Amino acid sequence: MAQNEDVFKKIVSHCKEYGFIYPSSEIYDGLSAVYDYGPYGSELKNNIKTYWWKSMVQLNDNIVGIDAAIFMHPKTWKASGHVDAFNDPLVDNKDSKKRYRADQLIEDAIAKIENKAEKEIEKARARFGENFDEKLYRETNPRVSEYLMKSKTIQDKLNVAMTQNNMEMLGEILQELEIADPDTGSRNWTEVRQFNLMFNTQLGNIAGEEGKLYLRPETAQGIFVNFLNVQKTTRQKIPFGIAQIGKAFRNEIVARQFIFRMREFEQMEMQFFVKPGDEMKYYESWKSQRMKWHLALGTGANKLRFHDHENLAHYANAAVDIQFAFPFGFKELEGIHSRTDFDLKNHQSLSGKKLQFFDPETNESYIPYVVETSIGCDRMFLAILSEAYTEEMVPDAEGAEAQRVLLKLHPALAPIKCAVLPLLKNKPELVEKAKKIMDELKISFLCAYDDKDAIGRRYRRQDALGTPYCITIDFDTLENNTVTMRERDSMTQTRIPIDELTKTIEDKISWRNLFK
Ligand code: ATP
Repeated sequence: MAQNEDVFKKIVSHCKEYGFIYPSSEIYDGLSAVYDYGPYGSELKNNIKTYWWKSMVQLNDNIVGIDAAIFMHPKTWKASGHVDAFNDPLVDNKDSKKRYRADQLIEDAIAKIENKAEKEIEKARARFGENFDEKLYRETNPRVSEYLMKSKTIQDKLNVAMTQNNMEMLGEILQELEIADPDTGSRNWTEVRQFNLMFNTQLGNIAGEEGKLYLRPETAQGIFVNFLNVQKTTRQKIPFGIAQIGKAFRNEIVARQFIFRMREFEQMEMQFFVKPGDEMKYYESWKSQRMKWHLALGTGANKLRFHDHENLAHYANAAVDIQFAFPFGFKELEGIHSRTDFDLKNHQSLSGKKLQFFDPETNESYIPYVVETSIGCDRMFLAILSEAYTEEMVPDAEGAEAQRVLLKLHPALAPIKCAVLPLLKNKPELVEKAKKIMDELKISFLCAYDDKDAIGRRYRRQDALGTPYCITIDFDTLENNTVTMRERDSMTQTRIPIDELTKTIEDKISWRNLFK
């Protein structure tokens, strides 16, 4: 774990040093849980969005995309349940003045107890060797079963408190477990209370509650309120989906872990409208399609897993997360939810406008059920970087071992596809040739031109940005119109004719490689 924390810190500083992500308004010491994407970060993020958009909208003839506004009529959030129920249980420590989520403090305490049990099991495994029967040991060792029983009892109580929104009960658990402020050790807590996560602002021309606007906490509602507009104008029939990428805002109580939990972030959401009764079939099919989307990037299957929800959200009848093994543990990357007709039904009743699909084959009208896939673009960015970040020892120019840091990004996602490097910058004939090649290649994809420093250092700089191909122009190029193409991961170099460059690189970076 210590080692992983170390890796996480390295990823964060790599992002800053190489122009992927900066703390927002850094000259004023930053703004907590808000980040800005730099030149390479915004390229990578755009590529992630393109991968998602193409796979949803381009590859499915029954999914269309929209781009709805961030501001929505305030009644939207009443109907969706966010005004009344989009809360987290907040608790303040009176001594340290720090704020925490009570449920997270309790979950951390449960994890500590479970860890104790796991440690006992590991010790026993070492002691008994091959003959160790883990299942039997879990059931019969008094200390282990006591830990496991205790963690289950607390988990059950936490689930009840969360489902019933019982803040007093959460306070009781904090007291019973003698949970202390992780930073200061103080147990001097306020009572636990509900904290609404929506940011709000005020319309200029209407005073008071009437003019209160929210920054959307999810993009999904922009899809629901447009459901009939889209269905009618695109003449889709059920089942069909609406996809959207856009900003969402949440006033998270505890926002740590870099871009994993931000106050302003981007979501990629798709709502799939189905006939009531068919939802579980589509829920299962979207589960498997979404997992395939992640695996296609080359992410190890051991880094991704499904995690069923224990506390269902107010709108769901089934829900699962796709979790990724971030450097700080397995955490939610994407949610797949069967949202029933909750949203459309409530919008219909609060707006007084019919939100039903008319099926011309059966002459029936009904409110469709919805299966949603929802992924945070920033979390996906962090998952991709965690997977790509690699340190390895390689021979340097003198043949000694040296460390290189590289981002093993899928070529389709890499910010820069190809770097054009004249071997020497003080040879005008090399520079002229390199610039000519650059001018040709940049019409097709994003390239970088670099003539500073020794060639080895330039390779390292491109490795750190995840650039999959480097083209070197040397004296042979002037003779025979070929260049060296160096591949990032294997570092192999091949000689190829200049007039084959565009096609060769285009084939390697093509989205087709992800969709085949
Ligand atoms: P969590 O339990 O981590 O708060 P959630 O269950 O509230 O997440 P959803 O409402 O299902 O998240 O949102 C869908 C997706 O949006 C999440 O899977 C995640 O990738 C992303 N997301 C949610 N909140 C944030 C945030 N504060 N910062 C970055 N991404 C987020």
